Amino acid sequence: MGTFVRWIQKAMMSKKARCPEEEHWLELVRLMLDGQTTEEETSYVIDHVEGCYRCYDNYDLEKEIREAIKNKSINLKVSDALIARINNEIKA
Ligand SMILES: [Zn+2]
Repeated sequence: MGTFVRWIQKAMMSKKARCPEEEHWLELVRLMLDGQTTEEETSYVIDHVEGCYRCYDNYDLEKEIREAIKNKSINLKVSDALIARINNEIKA
């Protein structure tokens, strides 16, 4: 899992066009997706992404990473439940 995230981050870093606010902005996006930004910060994030294609791209990618991690952990939960069921059936 860590390898996958690092690969995505590397792919993001290797893009040519840079935005001067990108790093700070991306930091705020992560906080925003975690629901930890103030109203002021949230509107800064949204205002910026509307005028910056580069950051819009990053936002999409950030959401995709989160989806991937979420799906991965759901799969893990399903597997655990399945393993528990199999174990119970063996014991029964
Ligand atoms: Zn930007």
